[in-house]
Amino acid sequence: MNKEKQNIHDFDLSMIYSFFSNTERQGPGSPEETLKALGFIRGLDERSKIADIGCGTGGQTMVLGANMPGEIVGVDSWPAFIEQFNKNARSKGLHRRARGVVGDMADLPFEEGELDLIWSEGAIYNIGFERGLSAWRKFLKPGGYIAVTENTWFRGDRPGEIQQFWDSIYPEMDGIANKVAQMQDAGYLPVATFMLPETVWTDYYTWQAERLKSFQQEHEGNPAAAGFIETMRYEAELYSKYMQYYGYMFYIGKKL
Ligand code: SAM
Repeated sequence: MNKEKQNIHDFDLSMIYSFFSNTERQGPGSPEETLKALGFIRGLDERSKIADIGCGTGGQTMVLGANMPGEIVGVDSWPAFIEQFNKNARSKGLHRRARGVVGDMADLPFEEGELDLIWSEGAIYNIGFERGLSAWRKFLKPGGYIAVTENTWFRGDRPGEIQQFWDSIYPEMDGIANKVAQMQDAGYLPVATFMLPETVWTDYYTWQAERLKSFQQEHEGNPAAAGFIETMRYEAELYSKYMQYYGYMFYIGKKL
């Protein structure tokens, strides 16, 4: 297999989703970091409306719901994730304030000026950071907030292997200063930017390594699954080798 060319998006969606079902989170992140980002948001009350875009099964949405007032709508394009989201909201007693809906982040089911806060962890890359920030802005009230995580380069002196890997998956990956400038250019006041700790990735890859073992057994003899497994392991291996060069940053902005 050509590791430089193949990435997770080349695989059958149902294979990807079956791999990620039954987990609290579908990407790197943690309740502590979600709460840290929430600490920068002002002015929410019982009438506030919040959207969590690319919410997955709602790991971070439930943390938000338990720690702030208002109504939260989680949006994800994968129906099985939304089904699990709504079960999670019920089991945590949050179903009166948190609901999941199937939807596309490129065509959100909200009215203009309806939202007080847009949240999105590990998901805006699906539409692109700049495009997402611009397209979602109209749904916020004046002075509303946006908080997203985005994979970001920490250094300019990047080895070719890691540069080529991320160029092939997400060429929009950029440095911190450029991401902040893009946020400002999209019509937001950059309020805060912070780095998520390496443990959000190492914990995620530890879970992934275990899950890959059972996934391998479930898909014994399936060449597409073997390719998927190799790709996932390669990404984790690259992270352990090059973690000082990139990682997730939270970017928090206020609509200007
Ligand atoms: N926010 C969750 C978390 O941090 O655990 C999930 C992150 S996961 C890496 C990215 C999510 O984006 C997936 O749940 C995927 O189904 C969703 N997604 C991908 N493309 C989408 C789209 N066009 N519209 C809505 N959701 C999308």
